[in-house]
Amino acid sequence: MDYHDQLELSRQAFEELSEHFQANSYEGQAYRHLPGYRKSLEKGTVLVAGTVVRGFPKVPRCLVLDEGITQHFESPIAVEEKLNGYNVRVARTDDEIFGFTRSGLICPFTTHKVRSMLRLESFFEAHPEMMLCGEMIGPENPYTSAECYDVDSIAFRAFDIRNQTSGEPLAVEKRREICEEWEIPQTELFGIYEPTEAVEATPQIIRELDSDRREGIVMQTADGGQQLKYTTSAANQGDLAFAFEFPFDYGRDFSFRRLIREGFQSAEFEESDARRRERAHGLGESLLEPMAEAIERIKAGERIGEQHTVRAVPRVVEALLEHFRDQGLCIDIEADRRLEGERLVTFTKQIQRTNDKIEAYLDGTIVKE
Ligand code: ATP
Ligand code: MG
Repeated sequence: MDYHDQLELSRQAFEELSEHFQANSYEGQAYRHLPGYRKSLEKGTVLVAGTVVRGFPKVPRCLVLDEGITQHFESPIAVEEKLNGYNVRVARTDDEIFGFTRSGLICPFTTHKVRSMLRLESFFEAHPEMMLCGEMIGPENPYTSAECYDVDSIAFRAFDIRNQTSGEPLAVEKRREICEEWEIPQTELFGIYEPTEAVEATPQIIRELDSDRREGIVMQTADGGQQLKYTTSAANQGDLAFAFEFPFDYGRDFSFRRLIREGFQSAEFEESDARRRERAHGLGESLLEPMAEAIERIKAGERIGEQHTVRAVPRVVEALLEHFRDQGLCIDIEADRRLEGERLVTFTKQIQRTNDKIEAYLDGTIVKE
């Protein structure tokens, strides 16, 4: 079947979209991916070997749980943990299994990890038309590392199984059964609730996740058709701390949205002045500390960047670094060790603007504001 038929688009609509796809290849396999959002097609949609791998849809967010849940849902919802890592779709095309990152790139590191960690051959034999969607979490992570999970290096957690071509999800219960059957680790299910019950139950779930510094929840209808996310203060402040280490590279929208989330949560969750002051304190720290430290480090002559550590067999680490360089990223190796046949590398993704701007201001550049 033609790509436009698989995507349920007219030939003309598909042709108009075509120019937004980028050509790429992975170990000799040519493919095209859609790196940004388009009206008629999910970001991250991939065309490879005659098949479509649908992009993972954007999950809408509520700023308040009470009206957010009751306005959005009319039937029982599953509440699962939202994990803080990076999104991966695992799909089989032309008999090869690949791991795709959010924008639709085949990532050599992810592909290797999912192939070696999961029983994918038998999963895809049983469900050839499906793709497995999940989060890669843990400290040794080339995109988003988090220490709050019981993971030593990196691990996969499934949160969706979707039709690879249409993106239609399986029902939550069915998906959880299948993951269990194929021993695919999955995100935690906190419960299935009527919307009004969920309004009662979710604040406590969020408080507990927050105290473990975890990210939040994703709620969805039993058929998986409608999703909604909500995050903890720890996640909002963690993102702000990250953004303010690189204040001139992370957009103002990114930070503003997270500040607003804290305002709504404070209003919905908190009665006591003491608790609100504690949040204000945490919020201030997450803005000021990373920013002041960044300025000091640059003042001391360092160049700052996003640091990550990964562990894999040498050929996979090399392929990952090559993959980053192909995307135009400048990578500096900070530490490089061999451990039991694996390579453990700490590297920095260089960041330009923040370094340049801070340096200029430290040199006395004047701003007209
Ligand atoms: P995008 O929606 O484009 O991924 P974003 O930064 O807005 O970007 P997030 O706020 O992290 O995304 O929320 C959506 C993402 O959350 C999903 O893409 C997925 O990778 C991740 N996620 C983690 N846990 C779950 C879960 N249990 N169910 C669904 N998504 C989850
Ligand atoms: Mg995320």
